Formats: sequence, structure tokens, C-alpha cells
Amino acid sequence: MNASILNGPVAVIGAGTMGIGIAQVAAGAGHQVRLFDISAAAAQRALDGLAQRLRRRVEAGKADAAATEALLARIQLAEALNQLADSGLVVEAVAESLAVKQSLFRDLEALCSPATLFASNTSSLSITAIAGALQHPQRMAGLHFFNPAPLMKLVEIVSGLDTSETTLATLQTLAERWGKHSVRCRSTPGFIVNRVARPFYAETLRALEEQVADAATLDAVLRDAGGFAMGPLQLTDLIGQDVNYAVTESVFQAFFQDPRFTPSLVQQELVAAGRLGRKSGRGFYRYDGAAEPAARCAPAAQGLLPQRISLHGDWSALADLAQLLAGNAAAIKQPGQTSAYAQIDEVTFMLTNGKTAAQVANETGTPVVLFDLSVDYAQAPVIAISCAPQNEARHNACVIRLLQSLGKRVIPLPDYPGLLVMRTLAMLANEALDVVNKGVASAADTDLAMRRGVNYPRGPLEWAAALGWRHILATLDNLHHFYAEARYRPMPLLRRYAATPLSGAER
Ligand code: NAD
Repeated sequence: MNASILNGPVAVIGAGTMGIGIAQVAAGAGHQVRLFDISAAAAQRALDGLAQRLRRRVEAGKADAAATEALLARIQLAEALNQLADSGLVVEAVAESLAVKQSLFRDLEALCSPATLFASNTSSLSITAIAGALQHPQRMAGLHFFNPAPLMKLVEIVSGLDTSETTLATLQTLAERWGKHSVRCRSTPGFIVNRVARPFYAETLRALEEQVADAATLDAVLRDAGGFAMGPLQLTDLIGQDVNYAVTESVFQAFFQDPRFTPSLVQQELVAAGRLGRKSGRGFYRYDGAAEPAARCAPAAQGLLPQRISLHGDWSALADLAQLLAGNAAAIKQPGQTSAYAQIDEVTFMLTNGKTAAQVANETGTPVVLFDLSVDYAQAPVIAISCAPQNEARHNACVIRLLQSLGKRVIPLPDYPGLLVMRTLAMLANEALDVVNKGVASAADTDLAMRRGVNYPRGPLEWAAALGWRHILATLDNLHHFYAEARYRPMPLLRRYAATPLSGAER
């Protein structure tokens, strides 16, 4: 590994949102940084803005004055590309255009030494295609930071068809010295994060389109029951509806219009109306000081608590919920091979598996209440349920009363197959398995990318394995059957995992 690259000057090209952030990261790690932008005024503005932000932190007592001035002194503006000729590493963060990036790297290859590494921060272009413009494509890789680069802990290190192992290893060492978690992936559309995350938005957008609930209620289920840091609709308002829509559209096109990436008409319309989210003052929510809409929870249920609660089947994957239910009444645990369900008086209470409650009630001949997945049933303030239309009102009231007595706010959803969190996890895990199956990234890197790149509470693969692959497969098979859409087709690796006798947690 080349010491002059690990310690030497770093060139950053493009002084926009990402470029200035990457310059800050590299200078913070001790590198001399040269920042070049096609617009000298833009580069100066970016540097002045950074100095202002960092000095404000010093004034607020959040940063050391001497260290801040030293960091700023390490970033120099370059007036022309040829001033970057002796850089060990060039990181490009210019406009997202293949022609612009190829032409830039062609110019750089003519200027720099053969040992200089070239990295692109592209989100959606093929690294293979960018490197295709080079005489020595083995020196080029993707170094995909997330916005804001100084705060976000993940960097995806992306290999093109010809990228050398030395290039990847050097960039990985650098990223770690820069305080980032790095994951490796092959150059495929969306890399890891922007691909695996698509269903997180898509499933909630679909539920909104199918009028399952309003935005605040849907977000509350994913956030307060599911355990995600933000609801998907809230998050798209933060990212920008235009930006989020453009990523989905680009992944959809890049996968030859595979239906599992189909963009949402609801989101497209929001973009058309200019409701881009926080930055335009309105998206799914308003940002004009109006009161935040509240999730629709069930009012306090009247009546008696259930007389009998018994647990049946294998509750090992839902032990925290079993504990809650069993602690509340004289419950009996009956471990066995069948999937977990509880009998609450005459109501069958079970985790959704992608069938509607009506379907399950037809099969069992009992009243049925299905519940949604939670990352942590003990801590989650909310639980979402759906009740079979065949139930009498007293059946639903009895279950709601029980859940409320356990300290939960209950969100009753219509009879929506797979509810919200369960179908979202099943789709995230399905996509993650396709990434693994096609050799795009390892399972460990895929989970790490989702935890660090988008702050998921658990990696989708680890979460799905703990729940059990058979349950994930059943959920998707049932959704596939319900909708008759290729979007929900289970991936080959999911079928393999579900068919092996290993329990999820052992994999
Ligand atoms: P931006 O529009 O904020 O900044 C781009 C800068 O590049 C501008 O200052 C522009 O003047 C300059 N530029 C354009 N062509 C140039 C050239 N030929 N030579 C030198 N400078 C040139 O863009 P951004 O949001 O910082 O994105 C930059 C890159 O990073 C894109 O490839 C984008 O896909 C990727 N990216 C963006 C984000 C994000 O959230 N914004 C996240 C990850 C990756």
C-alpha cells in the first residue's frame, strides 16, 4: 500500500454539497487538501461557508479553536486542474453526468502520475463506465459518501469491472482512517444502500396510495412500532421528494424496469406540484408552523380484560412479546413446531404472515386479530393491528384493551396483508438477499451498510434471520399471491434459506 497516498495530498474536485464535506473529512484526518471547482466563485463560497460553520462551533464551545484553524489551513483552493497533478488521490464530486465525469478523469489521467488513485462519489453512475474512459481503469473506484459527509459514518467502496484489489484496499484503509465504516460492493445500480432501501419508501408509499391510513399514522407505525429512526414519508420530506423520486426512478430504469422498483405515482405527483418536503415548506407534511398531525390511535377501550390468554407454537422469535402477554395473565407456553399464535379468549392473535385477517379467520374459524412486527415489543410505544371483518366489535375491544393495559398505544389498521413493518422487512431482506446472491456485497457488509448508511435499527438480514426465513418467505409468497405482482416474488436465496433445517438465528 502506497504511504504517499495514505498520508499525501488529496484533491477534491467539485465544491458542492458533497465536495466540501469530503474536503472537510480529509482535512480533519490530517491531509493537505486541494479543492477545485469549475466555478472559482463556487469554490470560494463553499470554503467560506465551511469556515463560518466550523468557527461557529468554536464560539459555541463545541470545537477547539486551534484544531479548527489548522483544519481550515489544510484546505487550499486550486485555480486549475494541473495544480492537482501531484495528488496521491483525487476524489471527484462534480455534477452527476457520465460525460462530464469521463472527460474530467481523462484530463486527470494525462496530468497525474500513474500511481494516483481516482475515486468518484457518484450515486448512480456505473464505476465501470466512468473508468471506461481511462487507459488504466484499475486505479479507479467509487468512494460513495452519504450526505452530510462529515456526519454520516458509512462509505461504500465500489469496484468497477477492472478495479484492482490494491486500489480497493487502499481506499478502504483511508476511509477507516477518516473515521468511516466502509463496505465493499460491486458497481451495480444503487450500490448497496440506495438499492436495498427502496422498499422502505415503496411499501409505505403504496399503503398511502391504497388509503390504508394517513401519512402521520403510517409513519408512526414504522417509527414507533417498527423501530426505524424516522417514518418513510417523514424521511422523504427531509431528503427531498425530488431527490428520493429521482433515485427510485434511476434504480428502476437501471434494472430494466423491474417491477419491484416501480416508482410511486403519489410521490411523482408531489414532485410535479413542487411539494418537495422541508426545503420547499411542504411535502407530505407542512413546515409552516402548523400543528403536526397526530397518528390515529385507538381510544381507550372499554370493558373487561380477557379471561384467558394462552400462547401456542414456537414463540422463540417473539420472546419479548410472549413475555409481555404471559406476564399479564395466567398464560401457558406451549412450545412446538407450529408458528406462534396466542388465544385471547376466543380471538386468535398472531403476527401477520402476508395473509389478510379475513383469510386467516376463514381458515381458523375463529375471530382473528393480526399484529405487525416490532424491532422490540418491550420498548416500542406503539403496536399496530388489523382485525378480521368477521370479528364482533367486542373481540377487537378485548384485544385492544389488553394491549393498552400493557402500556401500548394501539394503531388499528384496515385488514391490510402483511401490515406495514412486516412487509417492509420482508422486502428489505428479499432485496438484501439478491445483493448477496449476485455477489454485489457480503451479507455482513450489506447489513452494516443499512445500519450505518440509513440508521436502520437492525441489519435486514440479521433481523430476518432472527425472525426466521420461513416466516419471511411465507409473507412474500402470500403477498405475491394476494397482489399477483412480480414485485413481491421471493428471491432464490430466500427459498434456499427457508428450505434448510437451520433456524434463522443459526445462519
Ligand atoms: P452539487 O451540485 O452540490 O455540486 C457539484 C459541484 O461540481 C458544483 O459546485 C459545480 O460547479 C461543480 N462542477 C460541475 N462540473 C464540474 C467540472 N467539470 N469540474 C469541476 N467542478 C465541476 O452536487 P453534489 O450534491 O455535491 O453531488 C456531487 C456528486 O456527489 C454527484 O455525483 C452526486 O451524485 C454525488 N452524491 C450526492 C449526494 C447528495 O446527497 N447530494 C450524496 C452522495 C453522492
